[in-house]
Amino acid sequence: MVRENEIRENEVAVEPPAATDAGLVFIGRISTPWTSRMETPRQGRHDGPLCRIEIFEPWGPALKGVEAFERLEILYWLDRSRRDLVLQSPASSGKVHGTFSLRSPVRPNPIGTSIVKLEAVEGAVLLVRGLDCLDGTPLLDLKPDRTLFKPIAPPQPGDFHTDDEGT
Ligand code: SAM
Repeated sequence: MVRENEIRENEVAVEPPAATDAGLVFIGRISTPWTSRMETPRQGRHDGPLCRIEIFEPWGPALKGVEAFERLEILYWLDRSRRDLVLQSPASSGKVHGTFSLRSPVRPNPIGTSIVKLEAVEGAVLLVRGLDCLDGTPLLDLKPDRTLFKPIAPPQPGDFHTDDEGT
């Protein structure tokens, strides 16, 4: 069963430390067809429905060049998640897993990531397929899929370090 915010059998919640301000800003908003966690996909698919990513001002110019990439990596803030579970039981079976061994939205910093298929860029709006978030989810960042991206800046010494050098 998909959770709203309930705790299941054998799950463990902790008292989280006070939040530190990492200075994050939401740079946009994601529109999807899903308004309930009961229906949102667990992972997006590239033949899934078209979703809309709106980039807020003043970040529009930062989209220059994204159209060259067939796929983008999207990072978003799973804003309706609880954040205090260390052990979770995704199948509600009583069997528990550590939060960091899961891709559950329930985590201390509820950051979701998806590789999406870029269908169109319309001004400050991206149309994509492959998301799995609720309508209205805040956008944290987007960048080219790492498998499509070649660094533009010259290489640095660390790029050539391998384990044989005994470090
Ligand atoms: N693809 C991302 C990842 O692997 O990091 C997220 C995967 S997470 C399993 C996707 C689930 O998060 C959805 O099925 C839904 O239950 C939940 N979810 C989606 N948007 C959310 C939001 N804004 N707040 C809280 N939970 C959300």
